Amino acid sequence: MRKDLLIGVDIGGTTVKNAIISNQGEMIAKWEIPTRLEKEGVHVPKDIWISIEEKLSDLKIDKNRVLGLGVGAPGFIDPETGKVAIAVNIGWKDFALQDILEELSGLNVHVDNDANIAALGENWKGSGDQVDNMLAVTLGTGVGGGIIANGHIVSGANGTGAEIGHITVERNGAPCNCGRAGCLETVTSASGIVRQAEKLLAEGKAPKLQERKEAKKAITTKDIFELAAEGDEDTKQLLNHVFDVLGFTLANIAITTNPSKIVIGGGVSKAGNLLLEPLKEAFEKYTLPRTNEACEFVLAELGNDAGVFGGAFLVLQNS
Ligand SMILES: [Zn+2]
Repeated sequence: MRKDLLIGVDIGGTTVKNAIISNQGEMIAKWEIPTRLEKEGVHVPKDIWISIEEKLSDLKIDKNRVLGLGVGAPGFIDPETGKVAIAVNIGWKDFALQDILEELSGLNVHVDNDANIAALGENWKGSGDQVDNMLAVTLGTGVGGGIIANGHIVSGANGTGAEIGHITVERNGAPCNCGRAGCLETVTSASGIVRQAEKLLAEGKAPKLQERKEAKKAITTKDIFELAAEGDEDTKQLLNHVFDVLGFTLANIAITTNPSKIVIGGGVSKAGNLLLEPLKEAFEKYTLPRTNEACEFVLAELGNDAGVFGGAFLVLQNS
């Protein structure tokens, strides 16, 4: 039987996204199941496989048409064994995700970090356009990163490759979820931006922002971008710092890997050109002119589907 189908799985702390995708990258079905966190997430692989079997049967698709399962999971993952060293939000520790799923499904299974998988997906079917060298950055609650170098994901020796959210950008910075301080995500994630805004307010600064907070109870990055666009100096200054730190960091990464595309995604990227334009300017300031010449900044296109497309592509790439 012709193996013309791929299954992409994107495991998150609250839901698992699954999709059946053709070899050509056509979405055939996508659905979600809740992530069962009880007993340190031990049921998650079985839940995933049962839901896939059900879907294949509903759609009358023979399992033998499936080339394999590509899975994105949170945390540090050994790319050789597909073992999750640690995924705090699920409870996994040295969890043999790949072996368990292979055993359950009888299919080839490939596992990598969710941010890396999302980068692969964007490159295959989104705004990456299948370039050989790409850098993907997700500015959400945290900062995720994925690097594609010479056509392949950079996972590294033990799964911490491309963890760009944890590049130190401030020597005595704010505490980070990783246990250290001053990481990129403490400054340029959505929560990092709001944290810096709250600090201004606590110091009695940024009166326009204070007004906004009193009216809305809580401020978001959207409020901060809006006020800055209206010409408010305090929020403009705050964002200029964010653009400068992010541009500086991306410039240094770009000098290492020389990407032709930098894809920016995540909630903060909804600011669109209000983010991209000043970010490009900061980037130019810190990178080699020749590195800059080759590099284009684009917004991510696939949103929540990037992970399942990336999982599917991982299967294709390894077949
Ligand atoms: Zn960190």
